[in-house]
Amino acid sequence: MTVRHLGKKTIFLSLACLWLLIGGCGSQVSSSVPPGPKQDTAVSEAKPAAPKAENASASEANPPAPKVENASDSAYITASDDFGNLALNNPSLPVYDRYTLGERRAKGLPVALPAVAPYEKQKTAYLTFDDGPDEKNTDAILDILKQEGVKATFYVVGRNVKAYPETAKRIFEEGHALGNHSYDHDYDRLYASVDNYLEEMEEADEAIYSLIGRRPLITRAPGGRMSHFTEAYDAVTAENGYVEHDWNVSSADSDPNGPVAQDFIDNIAGQATMDSAIILMHSSAGHEETVKALPEIIRVLREKGYAFGVVTPMTPQPW
Ligand SMILES: [Zn+2]
Repeated sequence: MTVRHLGKKTIFLSLACLWLLIGGCGSQVSSSVPPGPKQDTAVSEAKPAAPKAENASASEANPPAPKVENASDSAYITASDDFGNLALNNPSLPVYDRYTLGERRAKGLPVALPAVAPYEKQKTAYLTFDDGPDEKNTDAILDILKQEGVKATFYVVGRNVKAYPETAKRIFEEGHALGNHSYDHDYDRLYASVDNYLEEMEEADEAIYSLIGRRPLITRAPGGRMSHFTEAYDAVTAENGYVEHDWNVSSADSDPNGPVAQDFIDNIAGQATMDSAIILMHSSAGHEETVKALPEIIRVLREKGYAFGVVTPMTPQPW
């Protein structure tokens, strides 16, 4: 990517990272820049003009990415071996890795991501649905998204992926993004130690990978990073190449006081004022009111001038 595509903050960060590269630059960004294997892939794969790559899935890995007009098309970007191709012109294209973390470690490939430029080209709403898939609501949501021509992000729980593999596969095949929301969503276990957390995330990766042959790079910590992460969790997340996104708009559809569809519509209509709106909803059992609200939520966001995107490593952080 060229410097002119980067925002001021990113340029500053990148320069700072370059400067600090040898000694390691903070937890998020540069620990990942691979010193060795970088040369043979990074430069050429980052340029749209060079479709050449040394591995079999080169056509998927290189921009320009395929256009997705049709909901039945399965189109996504596959990260290159060194993650050098992570740039985005189309916010509705999911990004996946062709390797599990274990495979990357075994092959000596970089695991952590390099700094990437945030996607800020247009006002974008990211509909996100946590905790699925399930046997009913996730499919109903997929039906609505297909009808509306909207792509969304599903932060799935590994155990539910195993229980409802067809629905998980449908999310992928219909061009939505699958994100990792842990294996069993058990706060006590996840937040007892960073080792537990990492183990759970890798377990969920495996469940997804065994189904679609791809690994999500995006994660959402159960309960949210803001409520549960210490610095150690941020560090283990970045060191292992996971890109964590909380949200900045909440439908409050998991409020225990039995909210109804109109509440979610009102919450989202009131909160979505920013250029990059990451909207929290749920697709798991018991969320029928979310299904009911979704067509109107989409209409309201369109009226506010939002395009719809899926969460990727390039999605700006909500905080
Ligand atoms: Zn959750």
